[in-house]
Amino acid sequence: MRLGGSEGKLRAARRGEAKKFGPKKAICRSIEGGRQEEMKARLQVMKFGGTSVGDASCIARAVEIIAQAAKQNGCIAVVSAMSGVTNRLIEAAKKAQTGNSGEAAAVVDALRQQHEAALTSLIQHQEERVRIRQRMDEVLGEGRRLCEGTALLRELTPRTLDAISSLGERLSAPLVAAAVRERGLPSEAIEATELIVTDAFHGGAEPHMELTRKKSQARLRPLLEKGIAPVVTGFIGATLEGQLTTLGRGGSDYSATILGAAMDADEVIIWTDVDGVLTADPRLVEEARTIPVISYREAAELAYFGARVLHPKTLNPVVQAAIPVWIRNSFACERPGTKITPEGRSIGGGVKALTAIRDVTLISVGGPGIVGLPDVLGRTFSTTAEVRANVLLISQSSSQNDICFIVSTVDAQRTVEALRKEFAQDLAHHKVEHITVDSSVAIVAVVGENMRGTPGIAGRTFNALGREKVNLIAIAQGSSECNISFVIDEKAVKTALNTAHREFGLEASPN
Ligand code: ASP
Ligand code: MG
Repeated sequence: MRLGGSEGKLRAARRGEAKKFGPKKAICRSIEGGRQEEMKARLQVMKFGGTSVGDASCIARAVEIIAQAAKQNGCIAVVSAMSGVTNRLIEAAKKAQTGNSGEAAAVVDALRQQHEAALTSLIQHQEERVRIRQRMDEVLGEGRRLCEGTALLRELTPRTLDAISSLGERLSAPLVAAAVRERGLPSEAIEATELIVTDAFHGGAEPHMELTRKKSQARLRPLLEKGIAPVVTGFIGATLEGQLTTLGRGGSDYSATILGAAMDADEVIIWTDVDGVLTADPRLVEEARTIPVISYREAAELAYFGARVLHPKTLNPVVQAAIPVWIRNSFACERPGTKITPEGRSIGGGVKALTAIRDVTLISVGGPGIVGLPDVLGRTFSTTAEVRANVLLISQSSSQNDICFIVSTVDAQRTVEALRKEFAQDLAHHKVEHITVDSSVAIVAVVGENMRGTPGIAGRTFNALGREKVNLIAIAQGSSECNISFVIDEKAVKTALNTAHREFGLEASPN
């Protein structure tokens, strides 16, 4: 993922294009010899996760970070729903689907109280309070009606679920923007349906970058020029026709990098409740530590393999323009966090971090009859693609008796149903003997960009695991060689992580 000259030029060209929308606010900075040089103000996109806007005091902290940044730079904030809100909204939607509109209404009421409490604590100006309360009432009213409609029909379409689950961001953004104004900095809440254009895949929509770029530039650039800090709802977008979509759970990170790329930002900062990317999950590995610099590739690999700091798609939008992404702790903003860059920092070969994914299911399609059935592989994976199940790992034994692969447990049922349908004939004629499912497994991945050309890492890993009697169910090494992953019993995850962490000296290595 090295970025050569052409990408650099592309970025410069994109910046030129950005000029069409008018110059960025200029600041003067004196340089050596007393000469004054006009420099473009930097543009930062800052995303605040659910815990970073979890209550009034967290929002106040986020506001301070935005205000400090906006003193020197252009700043676009992207906010998640207050923590726990999206889960509760989804619960309410599911309750409504069973016809229970009472419980759904109770959730909406609880949300009203939660946001009202934050509002009264953050906003002292009466008029402003009334205005925001009105806005929140509109959004909550929409929520109530959506739940009532769902309860009436006892049907929850993906489109309605998106509309309901997006309410949290639509409530938090006006609140945060008001708190920024209260702090004396002009700010405006913006719904990302005005900015991010996506396809119509509800629950996991993909952005259309060129259209997103046009809309975002047209809407946000004028605000930035006037020194107004936009506060944008994370998680959501809209189709070209204006139908609201969501980018998938945890998608606000993705929103931030989509906007970072669309706006030619200089950096994207993901403010969260941990210190950055760690060598392993600290709840499982006591000696885990923060990694100061890591490459896109390593971070993407870790995100993909379940290190929960980043939504797996987060880095896709910024790769081409080589925009650095920081992960920082909004509760300890003096700490430097982790910087994710195109190149990362070489540690001369070796393992940088470990990660584990637990909520996964092993599906296998097989039986002796599949030997010589050339299309089984193809049909298996076109089926997973059709149901948009994210395949995390694939392994096929060379005897071809069995194809096994791993998907997230949430995707497992629909994947298996689709496979049973696809192979119905073959199952009936015993060409395919079984499609089996095992959800008591986990994946552990050993990640490091410079593992390429460093022999023996797989050997050391598996030796160490063998010593600790960790049984390997399947193994895969990507051809990129920045990841070796293996499937083990869920119960062995902690042992496996601690063993590998120690084996590669991750508590001490100067990465
Ligand atoms: N609020 C959404 C979720 O909980 C998006 C996010 O927080 O990133 O999934
Ligand atoms: Mg998140």
